[in-house]
Amino acid sequence: MIKVVFLGPPGAGKGTQAVRIAEKYNVPHISTGDILRAAVKEGTELGQLAKSYMDRGELVPDEVIIGIIRERLSQPDIRERGFILDGFPRTLKQAEALDQLLSELNMPLDRVIYLNVDDEEIVKRLLARGRADDTEEVIRNRLKVYREQTAPLIDYYAEKCLLAEIYGVGEIDEITKKIEEALGLGE
Ligand code: AMP
Repeated sequence: MIKVVFLGPPGAGKGTQAVRIAEKYNVPHISTGDILRAAVKEGTELGQLAKSYMDRGELVPDEVIIGIIRERLSQPDIRERGFILDGFPRTLKQAEALDQLLSELNMPLDRVIYLNVDDEEIVKRLLARGRADDTEEVIRNRLKVYREQTAPLIDYYAEKCLLAEIYGVGEIDEITKKIEEALGLGE
C-alpha cells in the first residue's frame, strides 16, 4: 500500500514518475489534469467548465476539483492499494480538504514527494512538450499560479514532516530510484 502526493511545478516530471511508480507497484494513479482533459475531450459539463480555466493556465475552482477527488478516493481500489495523487492538491484549500477526506477514510498520507526543477528547465521542457496549454504565455501564467497558490504547500507538508524533496533533473531511472528510496520501496 502506497499513499503519496506528487508535488512540484508544471513540467517537473510528476506525471512521468507517478505513472512509473503506479505501474511498478500496482497503485492507482490519480491525475486531476488527466481527468479534466478526458472530460474536455468528451465534452461533458465538467469539461466545458474546466476548459476555460485550463486554456488560460488558471486553476479550476477548488469545489469542483475536491468533488472529483472525493468521488475517486471513495472507490474500492483505493482502500485496497492506496493512491498516487498527481497534480492534486494545488491550493491550501485542496490540501485541507484532502486531510479531511483521508481522515474520514482512515488512510493517512505516507509521504509527499516534492520534485524540484529549475525555472529555465521547466520552460524548456514545457515548450518542447507542446500540449494545448503549453504556449509560452499560458506557461508563464501556470508558473505564476504555481508560485502563488501551490508552492505554499511545500511548507504545509514540511511542517507535517511528510515532505521528501527530490531534484527532478537527470536520468529518469535515477530519479525514479530516489523516489523509491524516499518511499521506502525497492531493493
Ligand atoms: P496538469 O496536467 O496537472 O498540468 O493540469 C492541467 C490543468 O488542469 C491545470 O493548469 C489546471 O487548469 C487544471 N488542474 C489540474 N489539476 C488541478 C487542481 N488540482 N486544481 C485546479 N486545477 C487543476
